[in-house]
Amino acid sequence: MGLPIRQAAKIGAYVVKKQLSGKKYPLVLMLEPLFRCNLACAGCGKIDYPDEILNQRLSVKQCMDAIDECGAPAVSIAGGEPLLHRDMPKIVEGYIERDKFVILCTNALLLKKKIHQYKPHPNFTWSIHLDGDKVMHDKSVCLDGTYEKAVEAIKLSKSLGFRTQINCTLFDGADPERTAKFFDEMMEMGVDGITVSPGYAYERAPDQEHFLNRERTKKMFRDILSRGNGGKNWDFTNSTLFMDFLAGNQTYECTPWSMPLLTVFGWQKPCYLLGEGYAKTFTELMEGTEWEKYGVGKYEKCANCMVHCGFEGTAATDAIKHPLKMLPILMKGIRTEGPMAPEISLANQRPAEFVFSKHVEKKMSEIKAGNSNTTEIAAAE
Ligand code: SF4
Ligand code: SF4
Repeated sequence: MGLPIRQAAKIGAYVVKKQLSGKKYPLVLMLEPLFRCNLACAGCGKIDYPDEILNQRLSVKQCMDAIDECGAPAVSIAGGEPLLHRDMPKIVEGYIERDKFVILCTNALLLKKKIHQYKPHPNFTWSIHLDGDKVMHDKSVCLDGTYEKAVEAIKLSKSLGFRTQINCTLFDGADPERTAKFFDEMMEMGVDGITVSPGYAYERAPDQEHFLNRERTKKMFRDILSRGNGGKNWDFTNSTLFMDFLAGNQTYECTPWSMPLLTVFGWQKPCYLLGEGYAKTFTELMEGTEWEKYGVGKYEKCANCMVHCGFEGTAATDAIKHPLKMLPILMKGIRTEGPMAPEISLANQRPAEFVFSKHVEKKMSEIKAGNSNTTEIAAAE
């Protein structure tokens, strides 16, 4: 799989130590230091906030305090478009100084202009947003020509010695044959890994039609993986057991605290995908969230979720507890035929609560009153 050995070993040792402590722990800090973006993808739930909120930025100090407080060994920086944040080089540098693994996710439109502000480092990875081949990607991001720019950025980044991977979200209707061919092409291009995720219906996303339910997700991943030797042909950065879960071979409950999200609103409760309240600190997030109320089978909004931010943590724990589970997968690839693992029953899930605009109203009044703890820039950079 596509993680460097040092990174895999360090994160593995961290998971073992935390597992022994018996406490809930974060694996990757998900950081969204701004929502402003230079694209307008239909599946995005981030960019339709009022301008006052799109102009808010987490400061370098807030970004460093977040990792110091939560202690995760890795951080994934997204947004919005992180390269629009003028202090992004300092944020990356600060994390590297703390010996954290940094994944900087970008749509790559600004990469050529800004790449000279960064230096290759074993702890630093560019993750280029690419949702499939030219037709698939340009359709996904609603802008023709974006695929070519992303491919150009990948080649530039590789030529300068940066570790460079892609992140690929697959939506309903993704053609397995084309997707498999796209993964082949990315491997031939020399990317250092592919992070794959099934599109999940953010409650704020304007286009709700093209997200996958769990059954279609599992079938789609089986169809894709069967065209790549059970996935062995491709270097996924996702863990082996998470990929096995996507192919319907594991019954997992999510671990929503394993990839906590910090945005300009604060620490998002309960997870990266659902915003049902915000905590001021990581401790408040961990201690003040009613975790037992969330997850597949517990809450209607969770019913279709299979995304990495909820289930990678579960897969990591499973790998530590049952290391032999991975052996046949590593040898033969992911099983893409035969019965699927039992699905969690949705019979007793509680109905969805629609609470997503309260934090926007609160932030707007803080901004108007001059009490916002985030930095406002005068105009989009
Ligand atoms: S590139 Fe990402 S943040 Fe920007 S609009 Fe698309 S999905 Fe949203
Ligand atoms: S199942 Fe629900 S709580 Fe768990 S990660 Fe998915 S959306 Fe979040």
